[in-house]
Amino acid sequence: MKILAIYEQTVPLNAPMRNASVAYDTMTASALAVVSDCVMNGEPVVGYAFDSIGRYGKGGLLRDRFIPRLLAASPAALLDQRGLIDPDAAVAALMKNEKDGGHGERPGAVGLIDAALWDLRAKLEARPLWRLLAERAGRPSPQEAQTFDVYGSCGHFRPGRGTAELDGLAREVQAAKAEGFSTIKIKLGGASIDDDLARTRVAIAAAEGARVAVDVNGKLDASIESGWLQAMAQLNVAWVEEPASPLDYHRLSKIAAVTPMPLATGENLFSLDDARNLLRYGGLQPDRDLIQIDISLSYGVAEYLRIVSEFEAAGWSRAAFVPHAGHLFAAQAVAGLGLGMHESASDLSLPFGGLWDGTAIKAGHVAASEAPGVGFELKSSLFQWLKPLVARDRNSAGVSSIIAGTVG
Ligand SMILES: [Mg+2]
Repeated sequence: MKILAIYEQTVPLNAPMRNASVAYDTMTASALAVVSDCVMNGEPVVGYAFDSIGRYGKGGLLRDRFIPRLLAASPAALLDQRGLIDPDAAVAALMKNEKDGGHGERPGAVGLIDAALWDLRAKLEARPLWRLLAERAGRPSPQEAQTFDVYGSCGHFRPGRGTAELDGLAREVQAAKAEGFSTIKIKLGGASIDDDLARTRVAIAAAEGARVAVDVNGKLDASIESGWLQAMAQLNVAWVEEPASPLDYHRLSKIAAVTPMPLATGENLFSLDDARNLLRYGGLQPDRDLIQIDISLSYGVAEYLRIVSEFEAAGWSRAAFVPHAGHLFAAQAVAGLGLGMHESASDLSLPFGGLWDGTAIKAGHVAASEAPGVGFELKSSLFQWLKPLVARDRNSAGVSSIIAGTVG
């Protein structure tokens, strides 16, 4: 088999919400489609990927560097012994002539291609991706249905709410609880102890017994840190997310040493190099804390498994791995690699919210899709952004296409 064409498009999210670090109204994401020369049911087999949210689209890196490099590689070099696309070999080809270190946004572009190739590979085998990933990680692939744990992510700051903001927060948490989540994460500002306590108390009351986690997105003000940690510890939150700036391991280690609360971080570290520094210098505790490295922002599955192995060698369990992302590829990885939990945006009106259409969440558990591949085709609000990549006049639709090495 060989790759015939790759299409990518930068998609505006237009979501009127923000966290303590970024707003989503001007945020973008990349959508990707890899078209193979294999045909099933009369249609070419296509691998899709959709970005993790929060770091903008990667069109420049994809168009200028990585897609041409993949298409310039010998087709045979991208295949395994069975003649099927081998995502690990493809990532090796993508990283040819790339320097170590200085990872920047590069890992997200590579990870997006890796994700699309895994979708393609699973479709070619007519199997759900989680089964392939289980085998890739050396885990037994059960014959029966696979379930995995999820938590609901909501409670962003929204413009125009004014004094009604806490009521809106409560409604979001209540809706997440009603959807079946047993752990629900909300956003905090990190600038005021009183404001953050008020939000957390409202969320805990609305959660009606579900656990509440809080995320300050690296923006906890150093001047209130000590009082904030002591006050928050009284509320028995499930975890505190990114209490320090992502690369400030020294500050994180000091927080980890003084607070009894579980800490979660890693979503803005994109490589084994950075994850190793977190492991060495972050002061995190294997029996308490959570690692949120984002698989697709971090060079993809192979690099992620290297990260997991490094942590396991230091006494960590896979149950401590709760990848950032909230998208369907990450859900497949959580199910297949046996990770702790999947993050899911609980607002089902968002294209990147929820899981496959109709998925039932029961006490925080979900059954993995049995559809071939990632199952993008079973999430209509998201697939509306992916299907047009290969289904209409690409250039007039603003989609960049690269076919047989020619950029169009
Ligand atoms: Mg976060």
